Amino acid sequence: MNKELFSQDKYTEHTLSMSFLKANIVGTLFPIPLVSIFVIMFAWVEYSLNRKWFSISGNAQFLLWLLVFYASAFLLIALHELVHALFFLRGCENRWKSIRFGIKSATPYCHCKEVLPLNLYRHSLLAPLWLICLPLAIVALLTGHGLIFLLTVIMIFGSGGDLAIFWSLRKYKGNRTYVWDMEDAVGCIVYNCNEPDSLK
Ligand SMILES: [Zn+2]
Repeated sequence: MNKELFSQDKYTEHTLSMSFLKANIVGTLFPIPLVSIFVIMFAWVEYSLNRKWFSISGNAQFLLWLLVFYASAFLLIALHELVHALFFLRGCENRWKSIRFGIKSATPYCHCKEVLPLNLYRHSLLAPLWLICLPLAIVALLTGHGLIFLLTVIMIFGSGGDLAIFWSLRKYKGNRTYVWDMEDAVGCIVYNCNEPDSLK
């Protein structure tokens, strides 16, 4: 929905934003419980099965390992932003025309120009965790592969910003609240409907 539709008399605006420094610090702290659970589970499985999870023999194999690692990380980061976009699209009237991809302060992002229902925005924030990190974690646990283990940890940390925004939205009710993701700052504008019965 177009941002202009959200007038001051119908909606109360709240701006939730933080500095890039705070976003980087908070974004690193939020994933720690999830990463800890995964690392403990991985270590426990490896120890129980007595698997050799990391073995490199020779420089050539190390270089290949490094190349595969960087290529996979790049693809997974792109996929993370694409997952956000696919969820945003469900609330976009102008479809792909409203979606922007870019890099801000060395961090890739996906921005939606339209105002979205809060619940949809919440789903979009958590979607990469369910659709990318969870399958990666399962594959890492099943195979005991060191590369997949590392990629899982990186991808969970990569969801830190999303988790921080999700947390900052916890007090809002989903059914009458809308969100506009800020393009030039870290955070979003929340529109709370003043007329409870006018919109579902
Ligand atoms: Zn994200």
